[in-house]
Amino acid sequence: MGKIIKALTPFFIVLFLAVIPSAPVGSAARPESIRVAVLKGVDLLKIDGLGIYVTDGRQEQIRIRPPLTVKRDRKRITVNGKGVDSLTVSAPALATVNGKGYRGSLEITLGERGLLVVNELPLEEYLVGLINCEISSTWPLEAIKAQAVVARSYALHQKESRKGARYHLEATVMDQVYDGCAVEDERAALGVRSTAGEALTFNGGIALTFFHSNCGGHTEAAEQVWSTKYPYLRGVPCRYCQDVPSASWETTIPLAKIESQLKGGGVTIAGLRDVLPGARDDSGRLTVVTLKGEKELELPATSFRKALGYTVIRSTMFDISVMGDSLRFTGNGYGHGVGLCQWGARSRGADGFNYREILEYYYPGTTLRKVTNGL
Ligand SMILES: [Zn+2]
Repeated sequence: MGKIIKALTPFFIVLFLAVIPSAPVGSAARPESIRVAVLKGVDLLKIDGLGIYVTDGRQEQIRIRPPLTVKRDRKRITVNGKGVDSLTVSAPALATVNGKGYRGSLEITLGERGLLVVNELPLEEYLVGLINCEISSTWPLEAIKAQAVVARSYALHQKESRKGARYHLEATVMDQVYDGCAVEDERAALGVRSTAGEALTFNGGIALTFFHSNCGGHTEAAEQVWSTKYPYLRGVPCRYCQDVPSASWETTIPLAKIESQLKGGGVTIAGLRDVLPGARDDSGRLTVVTLKGEKELELPATSFRKALGYTVIRSTMFDISVMGDSLRFTGNGYGHGVGLCQWGARSRGADGFNYREILEYYYPGTTLRKVTNGL
């Protein structure tokens, strides 16, 4: 008997040690994290913060007095003159990059065109900072809650689909705008906290919750913009975003400038004389425009908008008129129009709809679920 116990003892020890790190209590208390590329393609950074802790690529501490000057030096990184492969910075409260505060940790590596700074932080803390970048925390609380759920769902969806990549999200309109923790406030935190861990799901997976500023009266079906159909991203009418400053826009651009912008965007065109609106889809957005130059060329309206600039041609819901050597564009809405209309959500919130009703309206067929522990 004693012999058997002795023989088993090492096995039990191994088993015991193997089980401890993944014990349910430990994993339940761990917050869901997200990795955001907050800065790309720069050659020089200034990092500072109270009590910052710095490690190199092998997790060995670098004893260095802040502030840190991080430089790209050809194919390596230097920090206060010392060469390293990569750098991780964390702080008890926050660390700053070029004066801007971030929670969690900052990982600095060599990217494709310079230094890449990835901020890894708890998802819920990321969302509190995001609210005032994407909307305003002065908006009705139900609209803030809707934005929190939509941004959380989008982040979790991208985290899953970009698994193994160096980061999950861009900090720009390419994904979701995020500018660190300086714009956090109590109302933004309340909107995030009162929906903690909740996301929109469809068929058991996290929904891809695109959103935009103002739909101009009708949201857009995803397949019209990205050629991929999602059952819950179909166009719905939206009269709630009409009486706000972003509802309509107008811009006048010289033909010569339009031509050069198109060329810069890879469109082969010469002698541009006019741009004619083509067919429209069910939402009222143009699907194509016809360029009249030495030759005639049809171009998807989304490509035309991209070449001229997303902040110039604010949507593809526009008309065109000739003004001498220029064209005048008059349009409605701001953004691609897919998913939640932020200004529509704002007015719905003010009109007494709760965030569940707002989300159901813009993402029909999805289910709201608590998908993380919300920490
Ligand atoms: Zn709208």
